[in-house]
Amino acid sequence: MLYSELTAVYERLENTSKRLEKTFILAKLFEHAKDEDLHELVYLASGSVFPDYEEKEIGVSSQIIIKAISTSFGVSTGEVEKKWKSIGDLGKVAEQVATIKKQKTLFSMHLTIKKVFENIKKIAEMTGKGAIEKKIALISELLTAAKPLEARYIVRTVLEDMRVGVGSGVMRDAIIWAFFGKQLGIKYDEKNKSVEIHDREKYKQYANAAQQAFDRSNDFAVVIKAAKKSFKHLGDIELEPGIPVKVMLALKVKNLKEGFETVGKPCAIETKYDGFRMMINKTEDGKIKIFTRRLDEVTAQFPEVVEYVKKHVKGKSFILDSEAVGYDPKKFRYRPFQEISQRIKRKYEIQRMMHELPVEVNVFDILYFDGKNLISTPFKERRKILNKIVTESKWKLKLAKQLITADEKDAEKFYHEALKEGEEGIMMKNLTAPYKPGARVGYMLKLKPELNEFDLAIVGAEYGTGKRKGWLSSFILACQDKGKLLEIGKVGTGIKEKEEEGLSFIELTKLLKPLIIREEGKIVHVKPEIIVTITYQEIQKSPTYASGFALRFPRMSRLRPDRSIKDIAFLEEIRKEYSMQGRKRK
Ligand code: ATP
Repeated sequence: MLYSELTAVYERLENTSKRLEKTFILAKLFEHAKDEDLHELVYLASGSVFPDYEEKEIGVSSQIIIKAISTSFGVSTGEVEKKWKSIGDLGKVAEQVATIKKQKTLFSMHLTIKKVFENIKKIAEMTGKGAIEKKIALISELLTAAKPLEARYIVRTVLEDMRVGVGSGVMRDAIIWAFFGKQLGIKYDEKNKSVEIHDREKYKQYANAAQQAFDRSNDFAVVIKAAKKSFKHLGDIELEPGIPVKVMLALKVKNLKEGFETVGKPCAIETKYDGFRMMINKTEDGKIKIFTRRLDEVTAQFPEVVEYVKKHVKGKSFILDSEAVGYDPKKFRYRPFQEISQRIKRKYEIQRMMHELPVEVNVFDILYFDGKNLISTPFKERRKILNKIVTESKWKLKLAKQLITADEKDAEKFYHEALKEGEEGIMMKNLTAPYKPGARVGYMLKLKPELNEFDLAIVGAEYGTGKRKGWLSSFILACQDKGKLLEIGKVGTGIKEKEEEGLSFIELTKLLKPLIIREEGKIVHVKPEIIVTITYQEIQKSPTYASGFALRFPRMSRLRPDRSIKDIAFLEEIRKEYSMQGRKRK
């Protein structure tokens, strides 16, 4: 397929904010694509060259792009920067420069999606000496061959800043429309931008199957290839130890009564440990692989966990769900999450970190065991398997503390004891429920003392003045709504001046600088990759921010390297908290 066919689609997607229209545009693209193009097409359509589960980033900064545009079109970097300042989007800068230059000298070749995909993938995988020059050469090779519109999207793909608004929900629906549209009687009215679906029940069933297929594989290329074959193939997508699965999430409850009403009696009550989620896989050939809940592989960072699993868990292959908690190796006391979070991203001095900040693994679920997928097996049975295969060892690997009860008094006692021991709270779990990867469905609930906090993404920042000159010192925050990021305020408190005192301006500046995609005077816009927990006193309505809300007295409490953009607070949650707040005041 020619890349120009795809860029025409990008442009149409960019020009509409309507979800149905986006779904229709993509569905048409998928429907008519040849089998041999599907792989590259699916990744490029969602603005990437990797499946969701691979932690890899393309990793190209704005500065590299500026150099590549300059080399490709023979304009100075100063000129490119000047245009960038006025247009604010390097993709459009490349398009504009290409338009001017191409009229005179260069001619475009026919770029294919395979060629674009191949070059960008090479760019992402390139490291070591001379990598920057090679990256610039690979981008330039594409840009010199590109038509102006193609130049726009090559630059944006490389920068991972597509702006076409295709989230995983739209991808999933587009796959259904493309391959089962006729069968389900889906009729899209292009004029009124509305849809008619003949068999809604069946449509829901198909959308659920596609979602499940995605939650299991985390790879739309796998989903689309199965869907193209048949509906049955979609259902046959299996878990595979070694390929990360999305974790099941918990709903929040206000008290034990509400908890019992949701999960039924009796239920399992477990300690809610304050650590981070670890999905521990043992592959069919005996390798241990560890993933975070954002599907990043962290095996190398936790060699001790690999050893514990080999020693304390029986079985040829499995996928375990667990919470790793840090502890002080001298005093044998648990540590709060923020003190061990640095281990997740740490790439060097791993042995030292392991001794200074060791973790204990608390296993609470199992999704796969010795060739058998267990996600449809009731929780109670899954736990029985865990009881059989885990040999517990304190400070290394154990099972989550559990009480099965129908008695509210016993539950209350368990909850208070957990809090007394310094734990975050408890989890309440439905004994007969399956495991639903990626879903927040009320099969497990969390109960903890009320705290005003949200996880939000940093989408921009402002350089400071005076003592804070040269550092980013005020951070623009965003929540999510239907695949879009909406700003909800700024935060500058809770952050330290000195690096050794904790989360500092210096650390945040270092983290954010490589993510800058645009600068406007003192303000920078960044790729939304840094997630932080923000505490606040109150939510207010605000016309200033796109979310319609602002947080009063926001304070940055911690970095969340274990979270991705998909984990940040939804506008709906904020709206709900806002209305509850009103009720409390009255
Ligand atoms: P929170 O910020 O309240 O921890 P969350 O956004 O991390 O919530 P939720 O799924 O909403 O994630 O809450 C459950 C989290 O609690 C799990 O993701 C897991 O990391 C952690 N956890 C600790 N102990 C347990 C346990 N026994 N069973 C399940 N999850 C547990």
